[in-house]
Amino acid sequence: MELLKNFINGVYTAPVLGEYIDNYEPATGKVYSQIPNSTLDDLELAVLAAEKAFPVWSKYSIEQRGDILVKIAEGIEKRMEEFVKAESRDNGKPETLAAHVDIPRSVSNFKFFGTGIQHFASESHYMAGEGINFTTRKPIGIVGCISPWNLPLYLFSWKIAPALAAGNCVIAKPSEITPYTAYLLGEVIKESGMPAGVLNILHGTGASIGGEIVEHPKIKAISFTGGTATGAHIAKVAGPMFKKMSLELGGKNPTIIFDDCDFEKTVSGTVRASFANQGQICLCGSRIFVQRSVYDKYKEAFVEKVKKLRVLPPSDSSANMGALVSKPHLEKVKSYIELAKEEGGIVLTGGEEVKMPSPYENGYYLAPTVLENLPYNCRTNQEEIFGPVVTLTPFDTEEEVLKMANSTKYGLSATIWTSNLERAHRVADEVEAGIVWINSWLVRDLRTPFGGVKQSGVGREGGWEALRFFTEPKNIFIKY
Ligand code: NDP
Repeated sequence: MELLKNFINGVYTAPVLGEYIDNYEPATGKVYSQIPNSTLDDLELAVLAAEKAFPVWSKYSIEQRGDILVKIAEGIEKRMEEFVKAESRDNGKPETLAAHVDIPRSVSNFKFFGTGIQHFASESHYMAGEGINFTTRKPIGIVGCISPWNLPLYLFSWKIAPALAAGNCVIAKPSEITPYTAYLLGEVIKESGMPAGVLNILHGTGASIGGEIVEHPKIKAISFTGGTATGAHIAKVAGPMFKKMSLELGGKNPTIIFDDCDFEKTVSGTVRASFANQGQICLCGSRIFVQRSVYDKYKEAFVEKVKKLRVLPPSDSSANMGALVSKPHLEKVKSYIELAKEEGGIVLTGGEEVKMPSPYENGYYLAPTVLENLPYNCRTNQEEIFGPVVTLTPFDTEEEVLKMANSTKYGLSATIWTSNLERAHRVADEVEAGIVWINSWLVRDLRTPFGGVKQSGVGREGGWEALRFFTEPKNIFIKY
């Protein structure tokens, strides 16, 4: 059984108390490694290392820091296959998805912020006859980055890359459910020339080591991606400590289809937006609203395409979908399918587990599930399921669909399918979301602000937003 270690002060380090927790392979349902169940003792070692490293790292020139981040990107690229296989094994996602999305985008994150920091400028405001204000932006110090299991290295790197580029030292915790690629990253960090203690990676449960990171007085900012309930808890703890916080939380995203859409493109685009990564992407569209005049036609074409999706072990190169991330998550998603039925939902396809031959018979496979006949305000349509389950709901007017789309407590993303430009603008403007895609989905430009409104989060990541978050501005006025 492989024992993973923390990465503290540039060295793989066993947990002080010697406690470990099991790490499961979703494809088989078997434990295949163990990870440190880190405690405050481990965190104190990491804080000590980060404190020592900060005066050195924060004084590196932006070129030096940028070069190291680009080396990290190249280091991951060199081991692409190893990272792809590790991500797929740990998470259950198809290897093809990890190879096309997760790991390349992790590489991009390091490259983007490694080069971006070199173009990052602070502000200056001239006051005629008075003088000039200029703003310095210095690194904050030690920051905590906590990430979820659905896009493990992708979201981990999305946080730590800007934090490091801005000159901070980082204490990062990947999800206990998907620790492996963050663990592998330590090797790449060592080879990159990054000074010891700049990036420390601690493994363990959210409630224990995650909580300790949030509470530690020397950790000045928390960048968190995960569920809304966890985000609320973190805000309650970190708020009174006046820590800077960036919270990227849950979603229940609407997909809005008008009868003037490009039909074929809409069907394939919305199948992907519904079931990519087994529906476990915070940006997946889980509530599909279809204009009544094309509802039946869309339903038929969509369901036919969904039935053709291949749910297979993640290492199978023809898999469209792999396994869900964990047994408890599978049970949670199944319980929502039961709830939907109780609420009057009709299962058009899916709704049950997919049984695999040995050695995958205990893996967590669920058929892509499409439901209809549910009121827009029932629990199935209001609560985040975060799995391969979508609902279809007809609508007549823009006004009606906006009311339904905006009815949840979430506001992360929305997708609109129409060929009417004016309508696209009108609906995009009115829909309550931080990110809107028109006739597309998941197109990412790393310069754009990323995040949600309402209970989908506080703050934005991406581009300058992230670099501003990870720096402390000071305005200085000088009189003429
Ligand atoms: P969780 O909120 O359960 O966990 C997220 C991270 O926080 C994990 O590393 C977890 O550790 C840790 N954590 C849990 N409890 C605490 C705590 N009390 N203090 C500090 N850290 C804690 O989310 P999931 O991992 O289940 O991820 C799914 C959620 O993430 C969905 O709601 C999804 O919408 C959201 N998400 C949002 C995105 C966005 O950009 N807005 C992007 C991707 C996902 P551990 O795993 O050990 O419990």
